[in-house]
Amino acid sequence: MLKDGEKGAVIQRDKKTYAIVPHLGMGLVTAQQLRKLADVSEKYGAALKITSAQRIAIVGLKEEDIDSIWSELDINPGAAVGLCVRSVKACPGTTFCRLAKGDSLALAAELDRRYHGMKLPWKFKIGVSGCPNQCAENCIKDLGFHAKNAGWIATVGGNGGSRPLLARELKKGMSNEEALELAERVIEYFNNHAKKTERLGRLIMRVGFDEFKNAILS
Ligand code: SF4
Repeated sequence: MLKDGEKGAVIQRDKKTYAIVPHLGMGLVTAQQLRKLADVSEKYGAALKITSAQRIAIVGLKEEDIDSIWSELDINPGAAVGLCVRSVKACPGTTFCRLAKGDSLALAAELDRRYHGMKLPWKFKIGVSGCPNQCAENCIKDLGFHAKNAGWIATVGGNGGSRPLLARELKKGMSNEEALELAERVIEYFNNHAKKTERLGRLIMRVGFDEFKNAILS
């Protein structure tokens, strides 16, 4: 039996079959990738499930098929479990949405390129939205950016789950470069200060928001 996350496979409820979650950054998927996902699920008798992380999981696979399925898909595994940066969730932003004030897909793509799968003390989720409606659910992300006319607004410390927390505003009026610099400082702080399995929101509660803010912005 594979360990959870080994070969990008996640053990399922029946304790016999696995799900794999190919990395579809920001939920963007090409027609060719969709065809491959459909072909593989049909060939191996698996189900497809759209996840809350803007991915498509292939569910109900046998252990002996996992290697050949990855090779047929030719898509990297998504960081779906474990202590790391998980998916970067993004709304359509100025690429598609008429309400957008910022290019959320571009900022999210750069964050995804830099951090997806990076090992950290616990899971770390990022959301990027093109306007204050925050369709990428920034309020329950460890780190979020949403756009207003004056630039990006960063929020920190949100999470869903059994002990949910709402994110708080950290800084506003940022350019793309400033947002990326801030992300680097927040992730570095989290990596250096969080206890194992402590989410950023709990870390901020432990050290105090003002102290955290000073450490990041000073
Ligand atoms: S957050 Fe704003 S820009 Fe993004 S999809 Fe929602 S309404 Fe559109």
